[in-house]
Amino acid sequence: MNSQNQKQLITWQESLISSLDVGVVVINQNFEVEAWNQFMVNHTGSELEEVLNNSLFSAASEIDEKWFRNKCRAVFELQTPVFIIWEQQEYLFEMKVARPITSPVENMYQNVTILPIVNNDGNVTKVCILVYDVTDQALAKIRIQGLNQQLKQISRIDGLTGLYNRRFWQERFELEYKLTFRTRSPISIIILDIDHFKRVNDNYGHQAGDTVIKTVAKIIMEQTRETDMSGRFGGEEFVSILPDTTKDNARILAERIRVAAENKLIQYEMFEIKVTLSVGVAEFDEQYTTPSQWLEAADKALYTAKNSGRNQTVIA
Ligand code: GH3
Ligand code: MG
Ligand code: MG
Repeated sequence: MNSQNQKQLITWQESLISSLDVGVVVINQNFEVEAWNQFMVNHTGSELEEVLNNSLFSAASEIDEKWFRNKCRAVFELQTPVFIIWEQQEYLFEMKVARPITSPVENMYQNVTILPIVNNDGNVTKVCILVYDVTDQALAKIRIQGLNQQLKQISRIDGLTGLYNRRFWQERFELEYKLTFRTRSPISIIILDIDHFKRVNDNYGHQAGDTVIKTVAKIIMEQTRETDMSGRFGGEEFVSILPDTTKDNARILAERIRVAAENKLIQYEMFEIKVTLSVGVAEFDEQYTTPSQWLEAADKALYTAKNSGRNQTVIA
């Protein structure tokens, strides 16, 4: 090829690269920028003259230098391409999205390919970084993941209170029962039932009743740990699994919930409603050969609390 042809080739190749809808950056072994196409100029706001022959890490200070040098080592030494997908890291270069007004995110999601550029003597002295805008695909995937998550939540969670629903709680309970046989660490359950709840419905209406149920659920959430698993077992009946908790500690917690409920003035329209709770506690014991036996023990304790005048905690 004569030098005239070679020049022409470079010219049209350059204009092709510059018009690509993909970011093209070439760096040498010192990580100095040797090419920076129009896509990069448009999206980073850095002109070619500003970045040319400067360190990539000053041109794009958002890049974690140690991590990126490590990524590139494989490209330089093994002459193999390296891919960085948005799921590992949202972006390599911090760039604003192409449609900032309609987009729910600020920064462009990117897939990045780092390609070795092999010279005549077979060594890699430069690498080419290709930056693909995958914001739309990424957002679509994130949205679907979010919907799936929501669906899962819906089938686990009681709509009125946000606690686990009965079915899901029961599943967790059976699992914990099995685990406890192996781990032998103490674990307790409590059952809570609102006292004379029918009266709330009768005196103030069903809506007021719902507000009371929600308030009691909130008190239970506030008083329990993140690792405890609370569910709505029936209308105005609640259950909690308390891992690593002996019956004495479970009783302390149950009392805390009971007293918090007793002291709570529940506002509903112009009414101020007060309710109390009865609570049954049962610590796991090997004598319970099925999960239901353990649950029944707690339920029996609750029944005793009701028969002994309500507004109290009884241990199985
Ligand atoms: P006790 O002290 O013995 O528990 O008396 P109680 O009135 O609370 O009796 P019981 O537990 O048998 O009554 C529960 C009532 O709760 C029956 C039902 O009308 C009402 N209920 C059940 N689910 C709901 C609900 O989702 N919302 C409302 N507002 N009421 C409910
Ligand atoms: Mg009740
Ligand atoms: Mg009940």
